[in-house]
Amino acid sequence: MRVLSPAPLQTIPAQTGVAFELKRGQLLRVVDPQGAQVSDLFCFSAADPAEHFSASRSIDYADTLFLTTGHVLYSNRSQAMLRIVEDSCGRHDLLMPPCSLRMFQIVAGNEDYHPSCHENLARSLGRFGFGPDAIGTTFNIFMNVSVDPRGAIQIAPPLSRAGASVLLRAEMDLLVGLTACSHEGTNAGVCKPIQYQVLDEPRA
Ligand SMILES: [Zn+2]
Repeated sequence: MRVLSPAPLQTIPAQTGVAFELKRGQLLRVVDPQGAQVSDLFCFSAADPAEHFSASRSIDYADTLFLTTGHVLYSNRSQAMLRIVEDSCGRHDLLMPPCSLRMFQIVAGNEDYHPSCHENLARSLGRFGFGPDAIGTTFNIFMNVSVDPRGAIQIAPPLSRAGASVLLRAEMDLLVGLTACSHEGTNAGVCKPIQYQVLDEPRA
């Protein structure tokens, strides 16, 4: 087996986002460099912009709210988009949509501006032609959401420690949006950077 080709570790500054192409077979590593920081991921098929990530189908087919190593992120057409190959954290969320300006305004009860994952995803994916309305519920890497037996939902600090990472393999050609989440309350009070790396899959 050859060694993974070296690829630089890119940094997503706090409260920002990026978008990039990920070819089938390539690996995406998402790293939480400081710990307790969420990264929202949304993706589209590169072949057809109408095919996008579906959090609800991914929950349905995995029979769990908490996807980890071996689980698959499915599209709205029930095709595999990404497979979780490694996961050193083990706790991520598929229930919550990306934080948005309106969310902050509704929660805070005022009209102040606040950066958000939704804005950062829409802006980053905009260069591939996607508008804000195309962004659905995200795979919220490192986000720690619990649901009690009565259905009450609680956001707790992420369980990711400094250096925690998730490795995902692309199962189709993708356009990926990725953020360093902008919501202080989701990120143990402080919004921090996220790092990521695109690697070619090793061949036997
Ligand atoms: Zn966010």
